[in-house]
Amino acid sequence: MNMRFETLTVHAGQEPDPLTGAVTVPVYQTSTYRQDGIGRPRGYEYSRTGNPTRAALEKALAALEGAEYGLAFASGVAATTAVVMSLLKPGDRVVAVEDLYGGTYRLLERYVRPWGVAVDYVPATDTDRWIESLRQPTRLVWLESPTNPLLQLADIAAVSSAAHACGAWVAVDNTFASPALQRPLELGADLVVHSTTKYLGGHSDLIGGAVVTRDRVLYERIRHYQNAAGAVPGPWDCWLLLRGLRTLSVRMRAHCENARAIAEWLSRHPNVERVYYPGLPDHPQRDLVQRQMSAPGGMVSFDLRGGLEAVEHMVSRLQVFILGESLGGVESLVCYPPKMTHAVFAPSERRRRGLGDGLVRLSVGIEHVEDLIADLEQALNLKSSTTKGTHP
Ligand SMILES: *Cc1c(COP(=O)(O)O)cnc(C)c1O
Repeated sequence: MNMRFETLTVHAGQEPDPLTGAVTVPVYQTSTYRQDGIGRPRGYEYSRTGNPTRAALEKALAALEGAEYGLAFASGVAATTAVVMSLLKPGDRVVAVEDLYGGTYRLLERYVRPWGVAVDYVPATDTDRWIESLRQPTRLVWLESPTNPLLQLADIAAVSSAAHACGAWVAVDNTFASPALQRPLELGADLVVHSTTKYLGGHSDLIGGAVVTRDRVLYERIRHYQNAAGAVPGPWDCWLLLRGLRTLSVRMRAHCENARAIAEWLSRHPNVERVYYPGLPDHPQRDLVQRQMSAPGGMVSFDLRGGLEAVEHMVSRLQVFILGESLGGVESLVCYPPKMTHAVFAPSERRRRGLGDGLVRLSVGIEHVEDLIADLEQALNLKSSTTKGTHP
């Protein structure tokens, strides 16, 4: 049966256990497997190579991206490493989106470039520059969309066709959107990478990563690396992730609804200079948002007037939003990218990338939206922030 996304999140890879009928996948907490005879295993030999709980997760992840093959990793960074190390070799060229996740940037600059691979960056939004850049021989294109923290989009279909014309593979880090909102393989990408730590897990209780593809050859190469390098998740984390996936559709709906209301509220607030949210009518890539995503997501960034001092004041007053890194959990988080997720960039480089001193990023959770707005309202309290220090 051709199941819809919501049905797949509940059932794909999670069929009742054939042995007992249990409706949840068992946690196979085992390192090894008894073999029926020498050279006669029953499908599993050793849990780095394969584990039934992980196999269920890999099947579920593939199904959600509309793919045949899924591979689970111990973290998002481990998934990225597996793609980069198994597909590149010295002398190759990779072109990555400029607003890159900091950990991917670090990997490319500290390990991939010194290994003899050319690394170039192109801004997500500048499709003409992507096309121009991909006239040179390239092995791999690395996209993120929407980007972090300014929530700009890359045109996945246009960049993929330019990449394929020069013989490059396209990997899309789909962590910010999740397959509930965007399916890059359907837009022409070859690989999807996830930090499953975020929306797919959804409860801020695990670290994990995934690679998904429809291409058997790419799958075989990355699977070989998964076993050779060994950064696999344990069965308990696979099980937690399977449980998280089952509510992905309803969680994403709540994240998007709350984020939209908060983005609209913020854009009317006098202390807020600018709001970055793909669902606002003034987002510069409105058409692309509608073409590429089914909903604009749960992340909202904004520029607060008054820079770091105003941000510190706001953060110290928040009661529901928790100050912390990461995103995609049921609880709302607030983060100050210049000193947290984007601290690796020098101040000048940060400003060149459009990250101002008052930039705040919200991962909007699934709490009641009125509570979230009330929390922001009292924290952004105009009076106390503008009269600060002027009391007699
Ligand atoms: C968190 C994140 C990663 C890295 O994932 P980990 O699970 O922390 O290793 C990669 N890409 C994006 C967009 C992320 O947000």
